[in-house]
Amino acid sequence: MLDNNIDTMTDDKERATLIPQPTTPARHTEKQTTPTQIKMSVRDVNFFYGEKPALHQVSIDIVVNQVTALIGPSGCGKSTFLRTLNRMNDTIPETRMTGTVKLDGVDVYQSIKDESTLRTQVGMIFQKSNPFPKSIFDNVAYGLRVNGIRDKYLIAQTVERTLKKAYLWEEVKDIMDNSALALSGGQQQRLCIARALAVEPEVILMDEPASALDPISTAKIEDLIAELKRNYTIVIVTHNMQQAARVSDTTAFFYEGVLIEHGPTKQIFTKPDRKKTEDYITGRFG
Ligand code: ADP
Repeated sequence: MLDNNIDTMTDDKERATLIPQPTTPARHTEKQTTPTQIKMSVRDVNFFYGEKPALHQVSIDIVVNQVTALIGPSGCGKSTFLRTLNRMNDTIPETRMTGTVKLDGVDVYQSIKDESTLRTQVGMIFQKSNPFPKSIFDNVAYGLRVNGIRDKYLIAQTVERTLKKAYLWEEVKDIMDNSALALSGGQQQRLCIARALAVEPEVILMDEPASALDPISTAKIEDLIAELKRNYTIVIVTHNMQQAARVSDTTAFFYEGVLIEHGPTKQIFTKPDRKKTEDYITGRFG
């Protein structure tokens, strides 16, 4: 087990707010700063399946409107970590977690009582698309109806807008009553993204969303991620390092449950600070 953790950690006196980032000062003016808004802040998270540790003292800040990629060899804890962000691990029996996860400064384990509200704010896309055995329209409308929206016009408008956001509208606008299960794998995955977007999440967690897709469908998902980050904060697990390099702003490298290094993607892939990261990036193991 490696010893250390990321160096972005500092004390957590309301980091949900703004952390000034130095930029190049403009000549003859006062020093400029660009505020970086932390959307989610994770501190000292440990996670256990029974007695078996899966995450060790993980701390990280997830920046708003950025894509954060989680990489590392299979079994290093990426998915487990992702699921701590919206309490999806709570549904797995005999697990235990310590540490804190905050969304906009609010502790999601202590202060958010209703997990479905949290999962509306922090939506999730899985590796295998999982549309409901319902029509395309009903899949996207599902979350709206569950949230008590009954206005048919509003639902129809939202479904259309959301399918457009998910780059799927043109392909399905004439077959909205068809079963979602008849769509191709890539279309199903974009439908699941539309379903998640319909309830207006702030953060979208993606667990290898393109790993089961062909290259063209994968490219569409990657384009979509680039577009979505204008309005959403995205955390994506990927085993594909080229994909991490293409889609993400920052990359976090996990190994044996430890967050070894987190930094700007370009730096992680060209000049990582840690030897372990370099060995992984250059294919020496994994
Ligand atoms: P990754 O996403 O990096 O492949 P995971 O988070 O899936 O890693 O797994 C981390 C560790 O936790 C692995 O050793 C895995 O076997 C274990 N693990 C994952 N899910 C479960 C589970 N439901 N029950 C028991 N152990 C699990």
